[in-house]
Amino acid sequence: MVVKISKNNNTASLSYWELKNYFKTFDLIVVGSGIVGLNAALAYKKINKNAEILILEKGFLASGGSTKNAGFSCFGSVSELLSDLSKIPEKRVWETVKMRWEGLKLLRSIVGDKNMRYQELGGFEIFDSQSNFETCSDQLNFLNKQLHSLIGKKNTYSVASDKIKNFRLKNISGMLLNKYEGQLDTAFTMDKLTQLVHDKGIKILNNISVNKLNDIGNLAELESNFGVFKSKKVIVAINGFAKDLLKIKDVEPARAQVLITKPIKNLKLKGAFHYDEGYYYFRNIDDRVLLGGGRNLDLKGENTTEITTTPKIQNRLENLLKTMVLADTKFEIEHRWAGIMGVGNEKKPVIRHYSKNVVCAVRMGGMGVAIGSLVGKEAADLV
Ligand SMILES: Cc1cc2nc3c(=O)[nH]c(=O)nc-3n(C[C@H](O)[C@H](O)[C@H](O)COP(=O)(O)OP(=O)(O)OC[C@H]3O[C@@H](n4cnc5c(N)ncnc54)[C@H](O)[C@@H]3O)c2cc1C
Repeated sequence: MVVKISKNNNTASLSYWELKNYFKTFDLIVVGSGIVGLNAALAYKKINKNAEILILEKGFLASGGSTKNAGFSCFGSVSELLSDLSKIPEKRVWETVKMRWEGLKLLRSIVGDKNMRYQELGGFEIFDSQSNFETCSDQLNFLNKQLHSLIGKKNTYSVASDKIKNFRLKNISGMLLNKYEGQLDTAFTMDKLTQLVHDKGIKILNNISVNKLNDIGNLAELESNFGVFKSKKVIVAINGFAKDLLKIKDVEPARAQVLITKPIKNLKLKGAFHYDEGYYYFRNIDDRVLLGGGRNLDLKGENTTEITTTPKIQNRLENLLKTMVLADTKFEIEHRWAGIMGVGNEKKPVIRHYSKNVVCAVRMGGMGVAIGSLVGKEAADLV
């Protein structure tokens, strides 16, 4: 078979072999190498065994949320669900919870619990004296019934205030437990997913930023900083960066900031913790505490794709460590970072045809770890 090569100004420096490898017409090009992009490529390859697939990534590493996140495998905490139920049609709230649950099952089956260091230590929601612990705990029976019919698990949520002192938390007046919530190691998870992609013969090119998409008959052309790539089908999985490339409404970038402590001797904190309707979250990892959130302090300022931390939010995160999480423990902060999420008025992701040959799969909200695999699969099925 003769391989057709497309040339452009930037490819003049490439060899015949390089052109043949990367500038032929692909069956599928995926834009974005986050959890959704990698899963979309894997799912498409599973259905189309001989498909030639290329993933284009603008960063030298994946640079949105998938390699920056906190590694919570959560599917819904009590105050978040109650708040959603007061704002969003009930059917859609349960559909989203189900999607997170199914997504986590899929991720675990693809990557393997051991490979991603999955641990089901429980998810705890903590309440201070200002917050609505009583209102939330009154609704546990109702939520447990719903969850039982949705995911087949009994008594998902319970009151766990007796454990506050075991974790050495301070200034907390109540705590709820989701016993099926787990946590994973983001580095191991993404590493294994990338390895699976390479094992299937799927190519990844980094430092390629796609700037424009054009449908030309049965082909899509992708204009990039390194010339034009061609493919029969395209999946755009760029989440919080959607507006840079797509004319799409209701997907906004949302920066999320995190810090991590140095290792702490005899750390008592174990599990995934949510505070203030999920605006703050913290967990143990490698004898350290990872804590993130605070976007609500500056929603306008955090509506950005600029990957940097700010003193306003980092100071608040540090203050929470001092007053609540590690109030009677000596700690030092080792590192701080930020990543970009994609959010909108609705919590459900957008998975739809953008044009004849292009499907987009964006708007993962704060739960892309949970839903990313399923969204990738659904995008592959659609394309
Ligand atoms: C700090 C932080 C903590 C989080 N914690 C959790 C958590 O604990 N649990 C959870 O479930 N979720 C969490 N999330 C959310 C989760 O990480 C995301 O929802 C998920 O990673 C989104 O995956 P994605 O593949 O859709 O997008 P991304 O991982 O953002 O991938 C998109 C990729 O597209 C690339 N790209 C963008 N534009 C272009 C272009 N024009 N051309 C080529 N490439 C492009 C980007 O560089 C990026 O690598 C967190 C997010 C952050 C930032």
